[in-house]
Amino acid sequence: MKKIISLLSVLLATVSYAHDDVNSDKKVFSEVVVTEGVSMLQGTGGNIGLLNGEDGLLIIDDDYKVNVGALEKVLDMEEGKPRFIINTHWHNDHTGGNEHLGEYVTIIAHDNVRKRLSTDQEIKFFGMKIQASEKPALPVITFDSSLSLHFNGQELNVVHYPNGHTDGDSIVLIQPANVVHMGDHFFSGKFPFVDVESGGNVIGMTNNIKAIIARLDSNVKVIPGHGPLSTLSDLKDYGYMLETTSATVKEAIDEGMSLKKIQAKGLPDRWKSWGEGFIDEGKWIEMIHISLKAKEHE
Ligand SMILES: [Zn+2]
Repeated sequence: MKKIISLLSVLLATVSYAHDDVNSDKKVFSEVVVTEGVSMLQGTGGNIGLLNGEDGLLIIDDDYKVNVGALEKVLDMEEGKPRFIINTHWHNDHTGGNEHLGEYVTIIAHDNVRKRLSTDQEIKFFGMKIQASEKPALPVITFDSSLSLHFNGQELNVVHYPNGHTDGDSIVLIQPANVVHMGDHFFSGKFPFVDVESGGNVIGMTNNIKAIIARLDSNVKVIPGHGPLSTLSDLKDYGYMLETTSATVKEAIDEGMSLKKIQAKGLPDRWKSWGEGFIDEGKWIEMIHISLKAKEHE
Protein backbone atom coordinates (compact mmCIF):
# COMPACT_ATOMS: atom_id res chain seq x y z
CA MET A 1 0.00 0.00 0.00
CA LYS A 2 2.79 2.38 0.90
CA LYS A 3 4.27 1.80 -2.54
CA ILE A 4 0.97 2.61 -4.22
CA ILE A 5 0.60 5.83 -2.23
CA SER A 6 4.11 7.00 -3.02
CA LEU A 7 3.67 6.26 -6.72
CA LEU A 8 0.32 8.07 -6.64
CA SER A 9 1.90 11.10 -5.03
CA VAL A 10 4.47 11.21 -7.82
CA LEU A 11 1.68 11.03 -10.41
CA LEU A 12 -0.29 13.77 -8.64
CA ALA A 13 2.81 15.93 -8.46
CA THR A 14 3.17 15.48 -12.22
CA VAL A 15 -0.41 16.53 -12.81
CA SER A 16 -0.04 19.58 -10.61
CA TYR A 17 2.97 20.81 -12.65
CA ALA A 18 1.01 20.43 -15.84
CA HIS A 19 -2.02 22.35 -14.53
CA ASP A 20 -0.21 24.90 -12.43
CA ASP A 21 -1.50 28.26 -13.60
CA VAL A 22 0.79 30.24 -11.33
CA ASN A 23 2.98 32.33 -13.55
CA SER A 24 6.13 30.50 -12.62
CA ASP A 25 9.01 29.47 -14.81
CA LYS A 26 9.10 25.91 -13.42
CA LYS A 27 6.56 25.21 -16.17
CA VAL A 28 9.53 25.05 -18.53
CA PHE A 29 9.73 21.41 -17.47
CA SER A 30 7.21 18.62 -17.78
CA GLU A 31 7.76 15.41 -15.86
CA VAL A 32 7.16 11.90 -17.16
CA VAL A 33 7.20 9.10 -14.58
CA VAL A 34 9.44 6.33 -15.92
CA THR A 35 9.11 3.93 -13.00
CA GLU A 36 8.96 4.27 -9.22
CA GLY A 37 11.78 6.59 -8.15
CA VAL A 38 12.85 7.48 -11.71
CA SER A 39 11.39 10.18 -13.93
CA MET A 40 12.26 12.16 -17.03
CA LEU A 41 12.15 15.96 -17.11
CA GLN A 42 11.62 17.57 -20.49
CA GLY A 43 12.57 21.21 -20.84
CA THR A 44 13.95 22.87 -23.95
CA GLY A 45 17.34 21.10 -23.98
CA GLY A 46 18.26 17.45 -23.56
CA ASN A 47 16.05 15.16 -21.47
CA ILE A 48 16.95 15.02 -17.78
CA GLY A 49 16.83 11.76 -15.82
CA LEU A 50 15.78 12.24 -12.18
CA LEU A 51 16.20 9.72 -9.36
CA ASN A 52 14.34 10.44 -6.13
CA GLY A 53 14.44 8.21 -3.05
CA GLU A 54 15.84 7.49 0.40
CA ASP A 55 19.33 8.76 -0.46
CA GLY A 56 17.99 11.93 -2.05
CA LEU A 57 18.06 13.31 -5.59
CA LEU A 58 20.37 12.61 -8.48
CA ILE A 59 20.02 14.07 -11.97
CA ILE A 60 21.41 12.99 -15.32
CA ASP A 61 22.11 16.16 -17.38
CA ASP A 62 20.81 19.64 -16.54
CA ASP A 63 19.44 21.34 -19.69
CA TYR A 64 20.38 24.89 -20.79
CA LYS A 65 21.85 27.52 -18.48
CA VAL A 66 18.79 29.73 -18.99
CA ASN A 67 16.55 27.01 -17.49
CA VAL A 68 18.52 26.38 -14.31
CA GLY A 69 16.16 28.48 -12.14
CA ALA A 70 13.17 26.52 -13.38
CA LEU A 71 15.04 23.25 -12.84
CA GLU A 72 15.89 24.22 -9.26
CA LYS A 73 12.21 24.95 -8.58
CA VAL A 74 11.19 21.52 -9.85
CA LEU A 75 13.91 19.89 -7.73
CA ASP A 76 12.79 21.88 -4.65
CA MET A 77 9.32 20.42 -5.10
CA GLU A 78 10.94 17.00 -5.09
CA GLU A 79 12.16 17.74 -1.55
CA GLY A 80 15.67 18.87 -1.88
CA LYS A 81 18.89 19.53 -3.64
CA PRO A 82 20.51 16.89 -5.84
CA ARG A 83 23.60 15.18 -4.46
CA PHE A 84 24.99 14.21 -7.86
CA ILE A 85 24.77 15.30 -11.49
CA ILE A 86 25.93 12.93 -14.22
CA ASN A 87 26.68 14.62 -17.55
CA THR A 88 26.19 12.34 -20.57
CA HIS A 89 28.41 14.66 -22.71
CA TRP A 90 29.65 18.25 -22.90
CA HIS A 91 27.01 20.00 -25.09
CA ASN A 92 25.43 23.03 -23.44
CA ASP A 93 21.85 21.77 -23.80
CA HIS A 94 22.90 19.00 -21.36
CA THR A 95 25.41 20.82 -19.12
CA GLY A 96 24.04 24.38 -19.00
CA GLY A 97 22.89 24.02 -15.39
CA ASN A 98 26.36 22.88 -14.26
CA GLU A 99 27.79 26.33 -13.52
CA HIS A 100 25.09 27.22 -11.00
CA LEU A 101 24.33 23.75 -9.59
CA GLY A 102 28.03 22.81 -9.46
CA GLU A 103 28.42 25.26 -6.56
CA TYR A 104 26.75 22.66 -4.33
CA VAL A 105 26.35 19.42 -6.34
CA THR A 106 29.05 16.90 -7.25
CA ILE A 107 29.31 16.57 -11.03
CA ILE A 108 30.43 13.30 -12.63
CA ALA A 109 31.36 12.74 -16.30
CA HIS A 110 33.77 11.15 -18.73
CA ASP A 111 37.33 12.61 -18.86
CA ASN A 112 36.67 14.23 -22.26
CA VAL A 113 33.61 16.10 -20.95
CA ARG A 114 35.82 17.93 -18.45
CA LYS A 115 38.48 18.52 -21.14
CA ARG A 116 35.98 20.07 -23.57
CA LEU A 117 34.15 22.13 -20.92
CA SER A 118 37.52 23.50 -19.71
CA THR A 119 38.53 24.83 -23.13
CA ASP A 120 36.94 26.95 -25.88
CA GLN A 121 35.01 24.83 -28.37
CA GLU A 122 33.70 25.43 -31.85
CA ILE A 123 30.94 23.64 -33.75
CA LYS A 124 31.49 24.92 -37.29
CA PHE A 125 28.60 22.82 -38.57
CA PHE A 126 26.25 25.31 -36.85
CA GLY A 127 28.66 28.28 -36.77
CA MET A 128 28.75 28.08 -32.96
CA LYS A 129 31.57 29.15 -30.68
CA ILE A 130 31.38 28.05 -27.06
CA GLN A 131 33.60 29.59 -24.41
CA ALA A 132 35.37 27.55 -21.74
CA SER A 133 33.17 27.09 -18.65
CA GLU A 134 33.75 28.55 -15.21
CA LYS A 135 35.24 26.20 -12.61
CA PRO A 136 31.98 25.23 -10.82
CA ALA A 137 30.66 23.86 -14.14
CA LEU A 138 33.45 21.31 -14.45
CA PRO A 139 32.94 17.68 -13.43
CA VAL A 140 34.94 16.91 -10.26
CA ILE A 141 34.80 13.14 -10.66
CA THR A 142 35.85 11.91 -14.09
CA PHE A 143 36.43 8.45 -15.45
CA ASP A 144 37.86 6.70 -18.49
CA SER A 145 35.66 3.72 -19.37
CA SER A 146 32.96 3.27 -16.72
CA LEU A 147 31.87 4.11 -13.19
CA SER A 148 29.30 2.66 -10.78
CA LEU A 149 27.16 4.62 -8.36
CA HIS A 150 25.01 3.06 -5.65
CA PHE A 151 22.06 5.30 -4.89
CA ASN A 152 18.44 4.85 -3.78
CA GLY A 153 18.75 1.08 -3.92
CA GLN A 154 19.80 1.24 -7.57
CA GLU A 155 23.12 0.57 -9.23
CA LEU A 156 23.88 3.19 -11.86
CA ASN A 157 26.41 2.00 -14.37
CA VAL A 158 27.80 4.98 -16.29
CA VAL A 159 29.44 3.56 -19.40
CA HIS A 160 31.50 5.48 -21.95
CA TYR A 161 30.96 4.72 -25.64
CA PRO A 162 33.72 6.33 -27.71
CA ASN A 163 33.40 8.39 -30.88
CA GLY A 164 29.62 8.29 -31.23
CA HIS A 165 27.79 11.61 -30.78
CA THR A 166 31.06 13.17 -29.45
CA ASP A 167 34.26 11.67 -27.97
CA GLY A 168 32.94 11.84 -24.40
CA ASP A 169 29.49 10.23 -24.37
CA SER A 170 28.20 7.96 -21.64
CA ILE A 171 24.97 6.08 -21.21
CA VAL A 172 23.57 5.42 -17.72
CA LEU A 173 22.17 1.95 -17.03
CA ILE A 174 19.96 1.84 -13.91
CA GLN A 175 19.23 -1.52 -12.27
CA PRO A 176 17.00 -3.02 -10.93
CA ALA A 177 14.75 -0.17 -12.23
CA ASN A 178 15.61 -1.37 -15.77
CA VAL A 179 16.03 2.13 -17.20
CA VAL A 180 18.72 3.49 -19.49
CA HIS A 181 19.50 7.16 -20.15
CA MET A 182 21.07 7.22 -23.61
CA GLY A 183 22.29 10.83 -23.78
CA ASP A 184 22.58 12.06 -27.37
CA HIS A 185 23.51 8.67 -28.77
CA PHE A 186 19.73 8.46 -29.20
CA PHE A 187 17.36 11.00 -30.78
CA SER A 188 14.11 9.03 -30.70
CA GLY A 189 12.47 8.87 -34.15
CA LYS A 190 14.66 11.63 -35.58
CA PHE A 191 18.00 11.98 -37.35
CA PRO A 192 20.58 12.79 -34.65
CA PHE A 193 23.17 15.52 -34.56
CA VAL A 194 26.62 13.95 -34.69
CA ASP A 195 29.39 16.31 -33.58
CA VAL A 196 32.27 15.20 -35.79
CA GLU A 197 34.40 18.17 -34.68
CA SER A 198 34.11 16.87 -31.08
CA GLY A 199 35.25 13.40 -32.13
CA GLY A 200 31.81 12.03 -32.97
CA ASN A 201 31.17 9.81 -35.98
CA VAL A 202 28.00 8.32 -37.50
CA ILE A 203 29.75 4.99 -38.08
CA GLY A 204 31.03 4.92 -34.49
CA MET A 205 27.53 5.80 -33.27
CA THR A 206 26.02 2.98 -35.35
CA ASN A 207 28.44 0.45 -33.84
CA ASN A 208 27.84 1.78 -30.33
CA ILE A 209 24.04 1.52 -30.70
CA LYS A 210 24.41 -2.08 -31.83
CA ALA A 211 26.56 -2.88 -28.79
CA ILE A 212 24.17 -1.09 -26.42
CA ILE A 213 21.08 -2.88 -27.80
CA ALA A 214 22.82 -6.22 -27.18
CA ARG A 215 23.07 -5.51 -23.46
CA LEU A 216 19.50 -4.26 -22.92
CA ASP A 217 16.48 -6.21 -21.74
CA SER A 218 13.32 -6.21 -23.91
CA ASN A 219 11.32 -4.38 -21.18
CA VAL A 220 13.89 -1.64 -20.63
CA LYS A 221 12.60 1.93 -20.44
CA VAL A 222 14.72 4.16 -22.64
CA ILE A 223 15.27 7.86 -21.96
CA PRO A 224 16.61 9.39 -25.17
CA GLY A 225 18.77 12.53 -25.27
CA HIS A 226 15.93 14.11 -27.26
CA GLY A 227 12.39 12.91 -27.95
CA PRO A 228 9.77 10.98 -25.96
CA LEU A 229 10.31 8.18 -23.45
CA SER A 230 11.03 5.14 -25.63
CA THR A 231 11.26 1.35 -25.78
CA LEU A 232 13.87 -1.12 -26.95
CA SER A 233 11.92 -1.45 -30.17
CA ASP A 234 12.22 2.33 -30.80
CA LEU A 235 15.96 2.08 -30.21
CA LYS A 236 16.19 -0.84 -32.66
CA ASP A 237 14.34 1.21 -35.33
CA TYR A 238 16.84 3.98 -34.77
CA GLY A 239 19.77 1.55 -35.06
CA TYR A 240 18.30 0.25 -38.32
CA MET A 241 17.94 3.83 -39.60
CA LEU A 242 21.61 4.57 -38.78
CA GLU A 243 22.77 1.44 -40.54
CA THR A 244 20.69 1.69 -43.71
CA THR A 245 20.97 5.44 -44.33
CA SER A 246 24.77 5.20 -43.87
CA ALA A 247 24.87 2.32 -46.35
CA THR A 248 22.81 4.31 -48.88
CA VAL A 249 25.18 7.29 -48.67
CA LYS A 250 28.25 5.03 -48.85
CA GLU A 251 26.94 3.32 -52.00
CA ALA A 252 26.35 6.69 -53.65
CA ILE A 253 29.89 7.85 -52.78
CA ASP A 254 31.30 4.60 -54.17
CA GLU A 255 29.39 5.28 -57.40
CA GLY A 256 31.22 8.63 -57.60
CA MET A 257 28.31 10.90 -56.65
CA SER A 258 29.09 14.28 -55.05
CA LEU A 259 27.57 15.32 -51.72
CA LYS A 260 25.28 17.80 -53.52
CA LYS A 261 24.04 15.08 -55.89
CA ILE A 262 23.38 12.65 -53.00
CA GLN A 263 21.47 15.39 -51.16
CA ALA A 264 19.44 16.19 -54.29
CA LYS A 265 18.55 12.51 -54.72
CA GLY A 266 17.63 12.19 -51.03
CA LEU A 267 16.96 9.13 -48.90
CA PRO A 268 14.16 6.56 -49.33
CA ASP A 269 10.68 7.90 -48.46
CA ARG A 270 10.40 5.78 -45.33
CA TRP A 271 12.85 8.13 -43.56
CA LYS A 272 11.01 11.38 -44.42
CA SER A 273 9.51 11.89 -40.94
CA TRP A 274 12.96 11.37 -39.39
CA GLY A 275 14.09 14.62 -41.01
CA GLU A 276 11.36 16.73 -39.39
CA GLY A 277 13.37 17.35 -36.23
CA PHE A 278 16.48 19.38 -35.49
CA ILE A 279 18.47 17.69 -38.28
CA ASP A 280 16.84 17.62 -41.72
CA GLU A 281 17.59 15.07 -44.43
CA GLY A 282 20.20 17.21 -46.20
CA LYS A 283 22.15 17.84 -42.97
CA TRP A 284 21.92 14.15 -42.05
CA ILE A 285 23.35 13.10 -45.42
CA GLU A 286 26.14 15.63 -44.95
CA MET A 287 26.93 14.24 -41.48
CA ILE A 288 27.15 10.70 -42.80
CA HIS A 289 29.32 11.99 -45.67
CA ILE A 290 31.72 13.78 -43.28
CA SER A 291 31.81 10.68 -41.01
CA LEU A 292 32.69 8.31 -43.87
CA LYS A 293 35.45 10.67 -45.08
CA ALA A 294 36.84 10.93 -41.53
CA LYS A 295 36.91 7.12 -41.26
CA GLU A 296 38.88 6.96 -44.56
CA HIS A 297 41.57 9.18 -43.02
CA GLU A 298 41.90 7.17 -39.80
ZN1 LIG B 1 24.57 16.65 -27.76
